[in-house]
Amino acid sequence: MNILLLGKGGQVGWELQRSLAPLGHVIAHDFDTADFSQPDAVAALVRQVAPDVIVNAAAHTAVDKAESEPELARTINATTPGAIAREAAALGALLVHYSTDYVFDGSGQAPRDESAATAPLSVYGHTKLEGEQLIAASGCHHLIFRTSWVYAARGGNFAKTMLRLAAERDALKVIHDQIGAPTGADLLADISAHAIRAVRHSAAPESLCGLYHLVAGGETSWFDYARFVIEWARARQVPIRVAPEAIEPIPTSAYPTPAQRPLNSRLDTRKLQHAFGLHLPHWQQGVERMLTEHLHTP
Ligand code: NDP
Repeated sequence: MNILLLGKGGQVGWELQRSLAPLGHVIAHDFDTADFSQPDAVAALVRQVAPDVIVNAAAHTAVDKAESEPELARTINATTPGAIAREAAALGALLVHYSTDYVFDGSGQAPRDESAATAPLSVYGHTKLEGEQLIAASGCHHLIFRTSWVYAARGGNFAKTMLRLAAERDALKVIHDQIGAPTGADLLADISAHAIRAVRHSAAPESLCGLYHLVAGGETSWFDYARFVIEWARARQVPIRVAPEAIEPIPTSAYPTPAQRPLNSRLDTRKLQHAFGLHLPHWQQGVERMLTEHLHTP
């Protein structure tokens, strides 16, 4: 099986290089050789490689920057994925793509399932939703995984930033009214590989294709996430300066950003768990693992 991986250098792309490797021959590209601001060139690459599976981890993920460059965000998040999907349909290839809870307005308190009405608040959310729609309209076999609050062990992330700030400062302010599930890029990559294998081995692949919500189990706020990380580190004798009572919860309204974020990022993942017979571990498990690796990296 030939797998074309696009966006290999991103958080999820990096982990996909690992998780896809046992499935077949992976041909991986990044910005330099598959620039998503050029839909025709990326479509030509897909035709040239003619893979069995395409996994697209490339995206314009700079949520605030997207507000000031909507056309570029739209090309990268919608037009090019749409062009890839049309090539996938022509080749009979399976397309795996990632989307976001930002397609929702985040009202209410309940987790949303795949049938919930979309209403993006930001350019990023709008363009990611359009990408989903173009892929669905292409008629290709596809898996679209909507996820949230993605972190990776490689590079910077929210937890590492909180640890650094907690070591430097006497007080911290963290948003408490956005609720979601921190989801590891490693988990996304592993679930993607399991799902690809299931589709490829299914007698009725169409029945498994479609849109899925994919996040770690449980839920938290950025404030409780920060407290979890800092107290986890304090318990392991990591030098922490900030006192527990000096971590202050603040509302989103106190931290204005160019792009509006949904308050309720809860996603209902039952469809995915039932369809593929998979279990989604609680977010703390992945975060603890990532922190342990971080502390033991010289
Ligand atoms: P990253 O930003 O880590 O990775 C995105 C990749 O796309 C990077 O390698 C980036 O390259 C690349 N890219 C950006 N512009 C272009 C371009 N013009 N042509 C080709 N490649 C480009 O994102 P994640 O790995 O976190 O995201 C993976 C998927 O998950 C995306 O679809 C995203 O929308 C979705 N998602 C992410 C969430 C998150 O919290 N991060 C939350 C919900 C969904 P470079 O680094 O060089 O810019």
